[in-house]
Amino acid sequence: MMNQIKIGAFISERRKAKGWTQSQLAEKLEITDKAISKWETGRSMPDLSLFLPLCTLLDVTLNELFAGECIAEEKWKERADEVLMDVITNWLGHDNREKVHSRESKENDTPPENVLEVENVSKRYENVSTGHETKNNSVLAVNDVSFQIPHGSFVGIMGASGSGKTTLLNLVATIDKPTNGTIRISGQNIVDIPDEAAAEFRRRHLGFVFQEYNLLETLTIYENIALALTIKEVSKESIRPTIQSLSEKLDISAILDKFPYDVSGGQRQRCACARAIVVNPDIILADEPTGALDSHAARQLLNTLAMLCREYGATILMVTHDVMAASYCDRILFMKDGEIKTSLNREQESKQTFFADILKKIEWIEGESHDVLEVVNP
Ligand code: ADP
Ligand code: MG
Repeated sequence: MMNQIKIGAFISERRKAKGWTQSQLAEKLEITDKAISKWETGRSMPDLSLFLPLCTLLDVTLNELFAGECIAEEKWKERADEVLMDVITNWLGHDNREKVHSRESKENDTPPENVLEVENVSKRYENVSTGHETKNNSVLAVNDVSFQIPHGSFVGIMGASGSGKTTLLNLVATIDKPTNGTIRISGQNIVDIPDEAAAEFRRRHLGFVFQEYNLLETLTIYENIALALTIKEVSKESIRPTIQSLSEKLDISAILDKFPYDVSGGQRQRCACARAIVVNPDIILADEPTGALDSHAARQLLNTLAMLCREYGATILMVTHDVMAASYCDRILFMKDGEIKTSLNREQESKQTFFADILKKIEWIEGESHDVLEVVNP
C-alpha cells in the first residue's frame, strides 16, 4: 500500500532541506498552506496534477515521492516497477479475476462468432475549413481500418484527441457513412443501409452509452428504459419485471420514478446502461462514457459495463482516452492519425498489470513517429 504518512513526512523533510516554510512551498505551487499541512501530516495526498511540479521543486523523482524516500541510483529501475504497481493498485482497487474465468470456460463450448467486422474502412471529410483558409481541404479521419469483435467481448479504442475514435464509432453506429470499406454487424453489411432504415436499425440492434444526451429528460428513468423495450416485441406484462430485476443489478431501483435531472451523473450513466442492455442489442457502443464522472462513479460504471459482458453476454465497443477506463477492457485498439497502430489483449493478467502494459504501449506509440495528420490540398 502507498504510505500516505511516509510520503507526507518525506515532503516535509525535503521542504525543510530547501529551507522553505509551508507557506513558501504553498506559494510556489499556487495552493493553500492548509493543503501542505494536510499532506505533511498524512491526512491527504497531493492532487495528481501537482506531482510533477512538486518533484521539480523538491528535487526528487516521481518514484521517490511515491515511495516516500530517496532511492539510490543503482536501485532506480528495480524500485520503479514496484512503486508503479503500488500506485496502480491503490488507484484501481483490487481485482476480481474469478468471474472472468467463468466466462472464459463458458466460451469454450462455442467458438466466438464476430458481432462486428470492420474491413478496410476509411472516412475522408471533404471541405474542412482550416482557420482563415478558404481553399478546400480534406481530412482522412479514419484510414484503412480493419478489426473484428467477437461476441461477448469488451473492446476499447484508445488514442489522442483527433485520432479518429469518434468518427470510427459513428461509422459503426450508422450515424456516419464510410468513404470506403465494409462494416458488418451480425453478418449484415450496414454501409448501404438507407438513412430512413438506419434509425430503425440502431433501435433494434445497437445500444448507446455516450457522455451526454443519453436519456430523455421529460421521461422518468423507468419510462426511459421502458421506451427502449417497446421497440422489441416484448409483452406488456413482462416489461415491469424485466426492468425491475435489471435495475436491482445496476443499483438504480430506488430512482426509477425520478427524472434524469434529479439523479447523479453516475446514476444517469447506469440508467443508460440499463436502457442499452434491456433490448439485448448486438453491440453496445460507448463514447467516453466516464468522461463527465468523478473517479468513484467512473469505476462503478466500468464495473457495470464489465458485468454486462460477463453476466448478460453483452458485446461492448468503448472509446476512451483514459487508461483507467481502458484497463477494464479485454482488448484495446490503439488509434493514431486515423489508423489502428497496434492492439493489446488482456489475457490472464490482472487489471493492474494490464494498466501498466497499456501505459507502455502508449509510450511506444508516441515515441514511434511524429507524422502529422494527413491534410490534402486538391
Ligand atoms: P477523436 O474522437 O479521436 O478525438 P475525431 O473522430 O473526432 O477524433 O476526429 C478525427 C479527425 O477528423 C479530426 O481531425 C477532426 O477534426 C476530423 N473531423 C471529425 N469530424 C469531422 C466532421 N464532421 N467534419 C470534418 N472533419 C471532421
Ligand atoms: Mg471523440
